[in-house]
Amino acid sequence: MAIRAEYIWVDGTDPTPKLRSKTKVIHDGSEPPEWGYDGSSTNQAPGAASDCILRPVFTCPDPIRGGDNILVVCEVFNADGTPNRTNERAAMRATAERHAAHDCWFGVEQEYTMYQNGRPLGWPKNGYPAPQGPFYCGVGSDEVYGRNIVEEHMEACIDAGLKISGVNAEVMPGQWEFQIGPAGPLEQGDHMVVARWLLYRIGEDYGVDMRLDPKPMRGDWNGAGCHYNFSSKAMREDGGIKAIEAAMPKLEARAALHISNYGDGIEARLTGKHETCAYNEFRYGVGDRGASVRIPLGVAQDGKGYLEDRRPCANIDPYLVGRLLMETILD
Ligand code: ADP
Ligand code: MN
Ligand code: MN
Ligand code: MN
Repeated sequence: MAIRAEYIWVDGTDPTPKLRSKTKVIHDGSEPPEWGYDGSSTNQAPGAASDCILRPVFTCPDPIRGGDNILVVCEVFNADGTPNRTNERAAMRATAERHAAHDCWFGVEQEYTMYQNGRPLGWPKNGYPAPQGPFYCGVGSDEVYGRNIVEEHMEACIDAGLKISGVNAEVMPGQWEFQIGPAGPLEQGDHMVVARWLLYRIGEDYGVDMRLDPKPMRGDWNGAGCHYNFSSKAMREDGGIKAIEAAMPKLEARAALHISNYGDGIEARLTGKHETCAYNEFRYGVGDRGASVRIPLGVAQDGKGYLEDRRPCANIDPYLVGRLLMETILD
C-alpha cells in the first residue's frame, strides 16, 4: 500500500525562517529517501545552482492523514553535501554529541497567537477587548477563543508521539501556549518543528493563521515568548542548585549573544514590563517572572531541578536556542 510522507524543513526566510513541506508518495514500503527541491524559492540557494537536498532525520506518524502515513523532519544540505547555512540542526548535532554525558533536558513553552481576518481571534472588529486579566488560563466563551483548535492540535501532537506536556490559554486574548518536554537536545527541536507544523496545518482547516510574532499588539498587551527550561544531569541531582547557580554568571557574560539570537523583534517584547526583563539587562531570581532567568520556587526548595530562560521569543529556532544554552553553560 502506498503511503504519503510529508517532508518538513526550515526555510531561509529572513529574518525569521518559516516551515515548508511537500509530499512524497512511497509505493514500495521503503524508508523515506533523500529528496531535492528548489532552494531558490525558499531563500536557500541561488537560482543558478538551486538544488537543495532534504535528508530525513526524524519520522513520526502523521495524525492528519492517519493510517501508515508519516511526517518526516529533514535537514537541508547544499548540492556539494555541506549543511545549508540555514541548517541549525547540523550545528546542534555536534554540540549534543560533545555534551551527551550531561544528559541535557529541555522544556519548551511555545506561545503563539491565533489570527483571523487580520486580527487576533476573538478581538472585536473595531477597538479592543477588555484589558488583560481574566484571559490567562481562562474558561468561558467570553474569555477564551479557539479552544477547539487547541484541543485538536494537542491530540494530534499526542497521536504523532510528540512529548507534548501541556497547553494553556495566555494573558492576551487569542494567545495560547503549548509545552514540549522534557526532551533531549535534538529531540526538543524535532518535536517543536512537528508541533509547529501541525499547528499551522490544523489552522488551515479553520481559516486561522498561527503567528509567532513576539509582540503582535503594541501597548498594554503581553508579547509571545518561548521560555526554555533547561537542566543538566548535575542540576537534577541532590544539591544541583549549585550547578544551577554556577550557570548564572556564564549566562550573564554571554547575554548579548543570546539576545541577538533569541528572535527578531526581541526589543519590542523584552521591555521590562509584561513579565519580562529588559533586553539590555540581565537578572536572575527565584520565582521572579520579571527576571531574564528564573529559578522556579519548587527548584529552590528542593535544592535541585532546572532553570528557566525567559528571554527567547516565540519565533526562535529551537536548535539554535538549545545549542547556545548548552554551549554557554557547559563548554
Ligand atoms: P511555567 O510555570 O513557566 O508556565 P510550564 O509548566 O509551562 O512552566 O513549562 C515548564 C516546562 O519545563 C515543561 O515543559 C516541563 O516538562 C519542563 N521541565 C520540567 N522539569 C524539567 C527539567 N528538570 N529540565 C528541563 N525541563 C523541565
Ligand atoms: Mn508556561
Ligand atoms: Mn506562557
Ligand atoms: Mn514559563
